[in-house]
Amino acid sequence: MLSSIFKKDNHSDEFQKLIDRWDSFIEKLKERYYEVLKQSEEPLNNVIENLQFDNVIIHNVKTGLKNQTVEQLSEKAEEGWNKMQSEMEKIGVSWDQINEQRNKLDHFKQWIDWQFGIFDVTTSGKAARKILDNVKKHIDDKKLHRCTQCAAELPIKIYSFISINLKCDSCGSVNTYIPDDRIRALEYYVLIPLAEEQAYPFKQKAKNDREAQKQYFKTYYEFLMENVPDKKEFYERDMNERINNPFFKLSF
Ligand SMILES: [Zn+2]
Repeated sequence: MLSSIFKKDNHSDEFQKLIDRWDSFIEKLKERYYEVLKQSEEPLNNVIENLQFDNVIIHNVKTGLKNQTVEQLSEKAEEGWNKMQSEMEKIGVSWDQINEQRNKLDHFKQWIDWQFGIFDVTTSGKAARKILDNVKKHIDDKKLHRCTQCAAELPIKIYSFISINLKCDSCGSVNTYIPDDRIRALEYYVLIPLAEEQAYPFKQKAKNDREAQKQYFKTYYEFLMENVPDKKEFYERDMNERINNPFFKLSF
């Protein structure tokens, strides 16, 4: 056992020095986190500026940055903790004192995870707005959809996300309408990231708070239902399942 639960608190200068060193080590990891993101800011903005109709590259950039920050810095924190722990063992500190120092490791890991989550969602949001902009420029709102048989005008919504079969009012023949790939891609590259951005503020509380969790799902799905009316029922079913099933756990 690392430290007996019967051991008394250690109030030595030596221990205080260890604590100070541990605190400043964690502080440095936080600084490093901000530094990495700061360095990535300009190149990332360039990447967003040059996006076309998908966000695959953004996804890759974020994976790389997550590795450099959340994963590597958490690993460093763990290593630092191992040293801290063995130093504390050497001078003999109490169980409570150890736990108090270990909490700092846990808080750091939660902190960096949450910070990166905010960065992640905000970046995807920026990318989504850029892609939406590109799609809007590409799509001709005034374009008419005409029946392939008689050329009568068909009542087709431009921003439709699913293929539909439409019977022509004039000649009765059935036309299959397949939405533009770019419009279909909006759902995944634009609307889902934007829904997540809207709902994200509820996510941190949602970890331990059932009401906040409901709020998160409601905000997320209502945004999608409003913007993807073609799939309203599909999203509504999903939402209700998540809101009403007491065993459903939000994954983080
Ligand atoms: Zn027709």
